[in-house]
Amino acid sequence: MKPTHHLSDEWLIDYAAGAAPEPVSVLVATHLALCPDCRASYRRLEAIGGALLEVASPVAVGAAARESVLARLDDPVPIPAAMPTPPANFPSQLPRPLRDYVPNGLAALSWQRLGRGAAIAWLRCASTTPYKMLMLRIAAGGSVPRHTHRGNELVLVLQGAYVDHLGRFGPGDVAIADDSIDHRPIADKGEDCFCLAVVDAPIRFTGVFSRLLNPLLRR
Ligand SMILES: [Zn+2]
Repeated sequence: MKPTHHLSDEWLIDYAAGAAPEPVSVLVATHLALCPDCRASYRRLEAIGGALLEVASPVAVGAAARESVLARLDDPVPIPAAMPTPPANFPSQLPRPLRDYVPNGLAALSWQRLGRGAAIAWLRCASTTPYKMLMLRIAAGGSVPRHTHRGNELVLVLQGAYVDHLGRFGPGDVAIADDSIDHRPIADKGEDCFCLAVVDAPIRFTGVFSRLLNPLLRR
């Protein structure tokens, strides 16, 4: 099944330009590995970016050159073949962009509980950026305590699915939240839900356990 919640072009453009911080790049690359639609968008953006570089010169861009760039926006893009179905032992078989960050598998990460139904494990990055990267595990039928955000939060589902008021998010789907979103994701009953998450500021718990949980996420 293909993802239904995607990355907008802004995220893909930053990634293509090498302007995205490392944790964001890992999340974008992992989504691209799982999403044929965004791979097609990415290739289209790369082609446009290349064309723009070709016409970028001290000489004023001629109308013909500009037309040729604009015309490429409508070029048909070959749709790459769909990714093979993840093996049954997924997510021990993580998408390639993630593997270096989880070298010894998910079980070897140091997990911290978030209430009864969820746990997080921070992933180490080579570079220092305001963005932090973590794995989120929501137990089957469990939930992440209600929280809001002080900055951006990007969540990519790797296995299983969860529901919040924004919709249902399954494998490969990306959810993007900011400080206007207050939510309590609940995992499907059938299996644990594993996600890669990227945050640029600590999230803030707003429910009954918030005073206990908030210090946990300051890092
Ligand atoms: Zn996508």
